[in-house]
Amino acid sequence: LVRLRARLSRSQNTLGKGLLNLLSREHLDEDTWEEVEDILLTADVGVAPTQELVERLRERVKVLGTRTPDDLRELLREELLALIGPDLDRTVHTANGIGNGGDEIPGVVMVVGVNGTGKTTTTGKLARVLVADGKSVVLGAADTFRAAAADQLQTWGERVGARTVRGPEAGDPASVAYDAVKEGIAEAADVVLIDTAGRLHTKTGLMDELGKVKRVVEKHGPVGEVLLVLDATTGQNGLVQARVFAEVVDITGVVLTKLDGTAKGGIIVAVQRELGVPVKLVGLGEGADDLAPFEPKAFVDALIG
Ligand code: GDP
Repeated sequence: LVRLRARLSRSQNTLGKGLLNLLSREHLDEDTWEEVEDILLTADVGVAPTQELVERLRERVKVLGTRTPDDLRELLREELLALIGPDLDRTVHTANGIGNGGDEIPGVVMVVGVNGTGKTTTTGKLARVLVADGKSVVLGAADTFRAAAADQLQTWGERVGARTVRGPEAGDPASVAYDAVKEGIAEAADVVLIDTAGRLHTKTGLMDELGKVKRVVEKHGPVGEVLLVLDATTGQNGLVQARVFAEVVDITGVVLTKLDGTAKGGIIVAVQRELGVPVKLVGLGEGADDLAPFEPKAFVDALIG
């Protein structure tokens, strides 16, 4: 929690402390509530959730009467937690699937998102977590568009002990993904992680490509998880991206990266609303250990302090 708190210090300072300070004011007038709203909007919580939360806070503060700092902290903790959804299933599904031939096949995870959001890094970090958990992992470098992506992924693979399947530069991403799962099946690996390309400028191209990658992989068997990687620092832009990806493939979970560098932690709420899928993992830094399961309670505790 100490580490989480340190990594989230920017969100903590603006969001957590900011809200507590405002709610501690002797007179909670309209201006104060507007400031509360501003803080939430600035943190990218989103318009509708912000209004809901302000409504709830107003109501509860009224009921509370006298406000001790502890009361306020507790109240804020409960309301933020409720907003984030403490009971959503945030498991990253990596269990074996049943292949189309009727045999067990590795769990398949596709990692999608716009270039620069931290897709390759996240794939590497996730491989590391899985390997540390005793699983054998095959990496598929299906981002054949960005020249360095396959090298970068392979470096991660070598570091964590996972084989990387790659194709020719600018080759067909779907065929690399297909080969990676084939390799995973041949090796009886536990999990295959597929890093994909994320070019947003031609939406149709992306649509065709990602859809094709998934369909081709599904010739082997089911894809257990499609993780969308979003850069938390891009705020509302990230939401626009999320929407485009969700139209292309069924996203099953979100990885929010670079939460360490932003005060916009509220994007967790907005993106879950937007996509109707939970944030499952968070990136809290560039280091190999900086990918963590998203735990709402720990997150809120870190924010409120
Ligand atoms: P890709 O193009 O989406 O595959 O992006 P990369 O994986 O190459 O990452 C882009 C940059 O973001 C790299 O410099 C990463 O180290 C950095 N990055 C990724 N995740 C995080 C994170 O959680 N926090 C921080 N601070 N940087 C990150």
